[in-house]
Amino acid sequence: LIERMRVYGETIFAEMTRLAMETGSVNLGQGFPDTDGPRSLLEGASRRVLEGVNQYPPGPGRPELRQAVSRYRARHYGIELDPDSEVYITVGATAGIAAAMLALVERGDEVIVFEPMYDSYAAMITLAGGVRRSVTLRPDAVSGRFTFDPEELRAAVGPRTRMVLVNSPHNPTGTVFTPDELEEIARVCREHDLIAFTDEVYEFLTFDGRPHVPLATLPGMRERTVSVSSVGKMFAVTGWKTGWVMGPEPLVSAVRTVNQFLTFSANGALQLAVADAIDGEWEWVAAQRAALQGKRDRLASGLAAAGFEVNVSEGTYFVMADIRPLGFGSGLDVARALPAGAGVAAVPAQVFYDHQEEGAHLLRFAFCKRDEVLDEAVSRLTAWH
Ligand code: PMP
Ligand code: GLN
Repeated sequence: LIERMRVYGETIFAEMTRLAMETGSVNLGQGFPDTDGPRSLLEGASRRVLEGVNQYPPGPGRPELRQAVSRYRARHYGIELDPDSEVYITVGATAGIAAAMLALVERGDEVIVFEPMYDSYAAMITLAGGVRRSVTLRPDAVSGRFTFDPEELRAAVGPRTRMVLVNSPHNPTGTVFTPDELEEIARVCREHDLIAFTDEVYEFLTFDGRPHVPLATLPGMRERTVSVSSVGKMFAVTGWKTGWVMGPEPLVSAVRTVNQFLTFSANGALQLAVADAIDGEWEWVAAQRAALQGKRDRLASGLAAAGFEVNVSEGTYFVMADIRPLGFGSGLDVARALPAGAGVAAVPAQVFYDHQEEGAHLLRFAFCKRDEVLDEAVSRLTAWH
């Protein structure tokens, strides 16, 4: 393994899912739903396979899906994307993130990221030869939601800064950035002529009526923003690994240059099924959002009753919980002990930080599970402590 990648061992998701399976634990670690997406989507995929859509699709993706993506971004946010040159289909958002970092981050370039951060960002910035400058999200004293200090953001910019990476709705904190927060970020990008990279995979999973605002809709941002999203969370099929990169032609074209040698293309039959669902299953998406909001409340109140201090989650599949009221200090130790000790798996948030002490006391719990599964986890955690 090349030297700069040696710090990246097994991902925390693989480790915790393995521990959960070995111990028969309720797995609230890795974020994946335990019920499937809409029936029409599943049937659509089977039908396409049987109809013979089984050879390479075009490298940039099936036109049907690129057009469907362009339509929903216009309908929901007023963002106009040319489906031929400004939408590009990838093997999940993960491949889009990888291709974008490899295509846009020059060796020695700095990338500003908000920590805690989704694990692939750090690894892909490193692989590209870039350097992270992380700005810490911390719970606000009044609202309890994780947010950043705009001063810290501005202080992170230097002469080598190339990009700001923004994930909203945010994994693992559940924060949905407000228009004011986004404007702080946009201002920094405009003033220093930076590229913005936005990971919007949880775009339709926001709660309590909170809107998701794409950074690209802010003044001066469309021409400098590359975004990724994917079907995994939109339709609860995380194993389908079908995503899309969106943005102005020069940036998407750079991503395309790299991605054609990473994966060349993504799965064609699934792309057609996803295109149909994007055009036809909005009621399902709305129902999923409402159900997840209820699950967030269910797990959050259960964790609070079990003695955790539970943070605010405004979106995603996740809620963060503080273990200190239970008398513990190390989330890493607790997360490694929980499967055998309590029969529950969670993710230690520490691994998502560059400044690891900032997240040492936090566990991330996934609530995208059937109610009875959440209840079982809570009763096990209550019995454990
Ligand atoms: N970004 C974030 C913030 C995620 O939580 C995930 C996990 N699913 C991904 C990207 C990866 O998405 P995909 O499965 O489409 O590759
Ligand atoms: N996005 C999911 C999570 O954060 C799964 C990630 C993964 O398995 N790589 O839990």
